[in-house]
Amino acid sequence: MAGEYLLSAVHTHSKLCDGKNTLDEVAVAAWRAGLKTLGFSGHSHTPCDLEYCMSPGRTAQYKVEIAKLQKQYEGKLDILYGIEWDLYSDTDPAGYDYWIGSTHYVRGPKTGKYYEIDWRPADLAACIQDDFDGDGLAVAEAYFANVEKLAEKKPTILGHFDLIKKINGKGEFFDESSPRYRDAAHSALMAAARNRCVLEVNTGAVYRGFRDEFFPSNLLLKEWLPLGGNVVITSDAHDAAALTFGYTEAAAQLKQLGYEKVLVLGKNGFTPCAL
Ligand SMILES: [Zn+2]
Ligand SMILES: [Zn+2]
Repeated sequence: MAGEYLLSAVHTHSKLCDGKNTLDEVAVAAWRAGLKTLGFSGHSHTPCDLEYCMSPGRTAQYKVEIAKLQKQYEGKLDILYGIEWDLYSDTDPAGYDYWIGSTHYVRGPKTGKYYEIDWRPADLAACIQDDFDGDGLAVAEAYFANVEKLAEKKPTILGHFDLIKKINGKGEFFDESSPRYRDAAHSALMAAARNRCVLEVNTGAVYRGFRDEFFPSNLLLKEWLPLGGNVVITSDAHDAAALTFGYTEAAAQLKQLGYEKVLVLGKNGFTPCAL
């Protein structure tokens, strides 16, 4: 069906991790918006950071509450039990309906510290100074090496491919046009292609005002098209109002870049949808 991609939101967060709304509130919003599919993708537990991911207790609660919602909305809205699984997570992504494989950290080669690269500028600055001799591009290279490792694990969706650029809007940490940055991203993109990954076009950083471009950048999307070009549009919604934020713009942009279709995740897996 034309425009089917507008009816599926599969990258969403709730209060059980770092979202603003309860699972219940997100489900009501999805149903009211007329969506066909809602996928929950709470942050998997990682031992390196307890700030935004689900604790083991919350992970159990997440499972129970989603099962309840699935029954409650049966025949009205397909609710999928997914997870946004981090490379450094200590849980198993098997057992979920689908999983988004995402990189949120770089591990310092000197100190062994895990740095969250997409949140506090001070953390990224410390990572660059204390672990990479002041070389911001080296951190970008380490980040993309992690994305490559994740691609090898064949997630259902490869999450926010170039998240490393999120708080680099003014180029304060590294130069995104540098050949070193491009090469690192290219190598991760090749790994994604080898593993037949589906990349998400993630509108989240625009909604939250970090960047004016979606993940991945247009340059990478152009490169991705001849490599397979499978993409799914997501909003990485941290509040119920953002479920399909930017979808129309993302689709228009993809079309302009030469894409003819996007994939849509539903209860029976991916189906293509013409743009
Ligand atoms: Zn993420
Ligand atoms: Zn997310």
